[in-house]
Amino acid sequence: MSCLERSSAICALCGEDVPTILVLSILSSNNIGLDLRPPEMESSLVHHIISCCPGCAYCSTDPSKASPIAREVVGTREYQVMSRTRKYPKVANYWRCFSLIAEREGDWAEAARRMLSAAWVCDDGDQERWAEAGRRCREKTLQLLNMARLLGQPLFEEEDGHPPSEECETAVAADLLRRLGLFREARHLVTSRLDSITDETIRKVLERQLEFIGKEDTEPQLLFEIRYEDFEDF
Ligand SMILES: [Zn+2]
Repeated sequence: MSCLERSSAICALCGEDVPTILVLSILSSNNIGLDLRPPEMESSLVHHIISCCPGCAYCSTDPSKASPIAREVVGTREYQVMSRTRKYPKVANYWRCFSLIAEREGDWAEAARRMLSAAWVCDDGDQERWAEAGRRCREKTLQLLNMARLLGQPLFEEEDGHPPSEECETAVAADLLRRLGLFREARHLVTSRLDSITDETIRKVLERQLEFIGKEDTEPQLLFEIRYEDFEDF
């Protein structure tokens, strides 16, 4: 099972002690979200791996390190308001702030990944209360994703054995569009790319995506449907 341990770090910006969580081990399954959200146990990490400095509100997955731009951004009113607004879940604000820093650093792909994490945090909270917050995070992720694509920044690092970033980006963008209720755009994106997809998992994700687009479903969905009968032998 997942094993987490409380720890702390010294904030690189103000020297304050920042409570952090060390992830010692995780339990993973192979059921990913249609937006490539990692499997359940792993995805709960999105709530633990980021911290916010109680002194200066610097949000990071590693508060002991900060770029000169981070120092500048954290000092702005925009950032400080973002870190405290009650329009989003607390941890979603941490990811939005972390995303703003990447955006100002010109790393649009990283900013998009961080904003998508904010959307996942909204998904995990009270669905009614945070529906609009999740929606805004997804709209912003799409904008960041488009900017990254224009500048040739891949969303995911190209690694051996991983699907090509371009194919992953299609899967993520299609799900963002569906979750935003933009079904026509989502369907067009999937059908125009499906024939050129080389990765088997991404192909399955996109085929399943088409099913939910057809149902005009805007809920979070997984690659595999978990049915009651799958557990009846237990
Ligand atoms: Zn600080």
